[in-house]
Amino acid sequence: MLEGLNLSHSAGDGVAKAEERASDEEVRPEIENVIIIGSGPAGWAAAVYTARADLRPLLISGNEIGGQVATTTLVENYPGYDDGILGPDLVEKMQAQAVKFGTAVRIDYVTEVDMEGTSFGVKTASGKSYRAKALIVATGASPRKLGLPEEERLTGRGVSYCATCDGFFFRNKELVVVGGGDSALEETLFLTKFASMIHVIHRRDQLRAGATLQRRALAHPKIEFIWNSVVTALNGDVKLESVTLKNLVSGETRDLPADGLFVYIGHLPNNQLFLGKLASDELGYLVTDKLMRTSVPGVFAAGEIQDHRFRQVATSVGQGVAAAMEAEKYLANLEDRSYPDAEDVRQLTPAALAA
Ligand code: NAP
Repeated sequence: MLEGLNLSHSAGDGVAKAEERASDEEVRPEIENVIIIGSGPAGWAAAVYTARADLRPLLISGNEIGGQVATTTLVENYPGYDDGILGPDLVEKMQAQAVKFGTAVRIDYVTEVDMEGTSFGVKTASGKSYRAKALIVATGASPRKLGLPEEERLTGRGVSYCATCDGFFFRNKELVVVGGGDSALEETLFLTKFASMIHVIHRRDQLRAGATLQRRALAHPKIEFIWNSVVTALNGDVKLESVTLKNLVSGETRDLPADGLFVYIGHLPNNQLFLGKLASDELGYLVTDKLMRTSVPGVFAAGEIQDHRFRQVATSVGQGVAAAMEAEKYLANLEDRSYPDAEDVRQLTPAALAA
């Protein structure tokens, strides 16, 4: 079984194939067709498509399999799941599907990407080196931090960015959530299962979140909104004890006792590997065209590393699919093959179909 890879979902013969592929490290080609960096929805979607195109993709997972969606609770807006599906379950299904079609997965973290030369070099934290003719970058984005002096010290000691991971520890406790977007409200509603009271701190007096989440949160008896306010300090020696709030209208400050603080104020792109190598916008997101091509031929990007507008599981999946199809086309051109393969096209002629 792939180390660290949870394939407990019944993936059918995919599991057998995964095991077969898991032991194929030594028989990998010297130069891979395509390496996918990242294991969020965009990465898995790209893996499913490149695998089904017989490109034998290699996917390098990053530190957390599944990216952000693996840390959320119920995903209610991914088409096809009318009752919703838990984020970790959705990732597991995507993973099983990609493996079933022949994706080789490495639980590893890319530390260096070399874009000089005729193929791309990829080095990982475990000391492995790979080369590939094409890359699909799906490294996603990570939660933005408040940037307060005590934030790092108190992370894991009351301060968290993941309600799904840490909510359980706050049974009957008083919590603070910062943010007014979909994530803040969705996770606040989840935290009501555990907390006795949740104060949502928002810097304006209007929420950014969608109407449904707003309605549910505003009506919830365990949720109090504190408007026009920001957190200016985190207080506590061994663990978080209170937060200092500043009202941006009156200028008043006060301390609010809190056992936990959950921060949901947006994201930053995971672009460190590509600084100075791939073009990015003023916010640091990779620039791609409609065909998911980055500024370097053969390097494609999909998901939140290049999209700070839509940021949905469904849009990331779509972008991953597009990147995979374009990577396939790029490889066909590189190898002077037609795309789709001439043989396949012949098989699809009306005469062939009628035969
Ligand atoms: P977001 O929509 O960018 O919202 C970030 C929130 O944090 C905003 O309310 C913003 O305030 C606030 N904020 C930003 N910087 C701040 C700072 N330094 N101090 C205090 N507050 C700060 O981020 P998100 O909620 O993570 O959502 C990201 C994307 O994912 C969105 O497109 C969202 O629709 C999507 N998403 C969808 C769902 C769903 O459909 N169920 C669930 C989660 C996320 P302002 O409003 O004043 O800017």
